[in-house]
Parts: sequence; structure tokens; C-alpha cells
Amino acid sequence: MNPEIRVDRLLGEASRLLVRSLDATEARAEAEILLSATLGRARSWLFAFADAEVDAELAHQFRTLCERRAQGEPIAYLLGHREFWGMRLEVNACTLIPRHDTERLVELALERLPTDRPCQVLDLGTGSGAIALALASERPRARVLATDRSEGALEVARRNARALGLANVECVQSDWFDEVPRGLRFDLIVSNPPYIAEGDPHLGQGDCRHEPLSALVADAQGLSDLQTLVAQAPQWLTPGAWLLLEHGWDQAAAVRALLGASGLIDVASWQDLAGVDRVSGGRSAGD
Ligand code: GLN
Repeated sequence: MNPEIRVDRLLGEASRLLVRSLDATEARAEAEILLSATLGRARSWLFAFADAEVDAELAHQFRTLCERRAQGEPIAYLLGHREFWGMRLEVNACTLIPRHDTERLVELALERLPTDRPCQVLDLGTGSGAIALALASERPRARVLATDRSEGALEVARRNARALGLANVECVQSDWFDEVPRGLRFDLIVSNPPYIAEGDPHLGQGDCRHEPLSALVADAQGLSDLQTLVAQAPQWLTPGAWLLLEHGWDQAAAVRALLGASGLIDVASWQDLAGVDRVSGGRSAGD
């Protein structure tokens, strides 16, 4: 009997390690999440069997995960998944970790998608596929084209689509619109592009430190990819169709100006849960 590797002892030790970089509640919660994942048990099992002795090899694996977490590796990468829109999505270091803020973009998109007829949707820079898969799951009659420049990200998006049984999503490697089949037109275009300015202190904090810079950072104070998307999107929209873009907390006015200058109408911004302008969009006036 080795009391050092009892469930309660391991959780206590891990909480004390993680509390150096997290608050006490988070540290305890993450210790429980990592131990339940290591053991393949529900979190509630940890309370029911607090005095159970853990297999030595599994205890070692758990301690290694906690060390990596204490060094700042995102818990989503350690677990290999993150929840978004009620779906468990695989994520890895090729993909941004989906944020709850982005669920606002999904809500706004769903308000604009028909429930009763087929439609074409384009998600540019899909990463793990979060937005595309959320829309495809809510609108089975929609056909969603999801693109990314990163083949590594697309592999994750494809696995997520398969795991969720969503056959109405197609993943294509493309630098923004470059490989989108000519002649296609979309009833909605969405994107959560990179929009953080190079050198922004936010990049040195939390999960961002381990996420692909190509998914986070853009030139021109973070606006260069937003500029490209707004400049090119209008020609791909059906008459009346919306373009919706996520952006940084201080970019709404700049993005609205771009949307207006590209000829889109009904240009507006919407707030995330924190009350920050997070999504802006406009719709095609038609021919
Ligand atoms: N919203 C993310 C963050 O602030 C960044 C996402 C993005 O660049 N598209 O960490």
C-alpha cells in the first residue's frame, strides 16, 4: 500500500502545484479533470473512491500531465479536446482552441440561415472546425465548406466532422478564397481569422503562448486578414447573403468601415458575453 498515490493525495499534490499559476478553484478543478482523464473515470468517481490507490504507472502519467500544465501548456491540448457548442472537439497544437466568445458568431450565423431549405455556407480558417461543425449540426440541410491554410488543422477538422457524423461539411485546404471552387456562391460566409497585432502582450499570456501564431497574429495591427476577407467576400455572396467576422475588442469600428467600403449593407457589430464588440458583419445588396 502506497498512500502517496491515493486519489485524494494525488489531487492534493496536483492542486498545490497548479495553484502557482491558477486560482485555487481552477487548480483543484483542473487536477480533477486531469486525473479523471488519466484514469478513464468520471469526476464523481474520484470522490466516491478518494482513498483508492492508483496504478503506479497511471500516477506517473498524471504527475507528468500536471507538470506540463504547470509549465503553461493548455489543458485542452493535454486532454486533446475542448467543448464548443455542446460538441466535444478534438484539438491539437495545429489548431486554435475554440473560445466561448466564438459561440456568439455561431448564434448570429444561425439567425441568418434557413431551417427549411438547402443553403451553402463557407467558413474560412476553420481550425478544428468549430464554427463549421456547429452550423452543420444545427442546419442539416446546409452544405458547409470549411477551409484552412494548415493541412494539420484540416486533418483535425475532418476527424471532428467524422466523429460527429456530420457529412454535410467538406474541408478543403485553401489560403482564404484561393482554392474555393470558382462559380460557387454562398448564402453565408463566416470567419474567425487571426486578428491580434504582433507584439500584443495578450500573446504572452495563458493558452495563446502554445497556440499556432498563424491562427492568432495578423499584420497591420491585426487587421490584414480581416481586410483581405472583406475585400474578397462580396463577389462570393448570393444577393442578400451575410458576411460575419469575429475580431478583436478594439477593431469593431475599423471592421465596420471596411465592410461599408466594400459595398455591403446593414453593417453592424454585436457584443460577446463580456459586453465587448466581438463580431461585425454586413450583407450583400445584390446585383
Ligand atoms: N479571441 C482569441 C484570443 O483573444 C484570438 C482568436 C483569433 O485571433 N482569432 O485569444
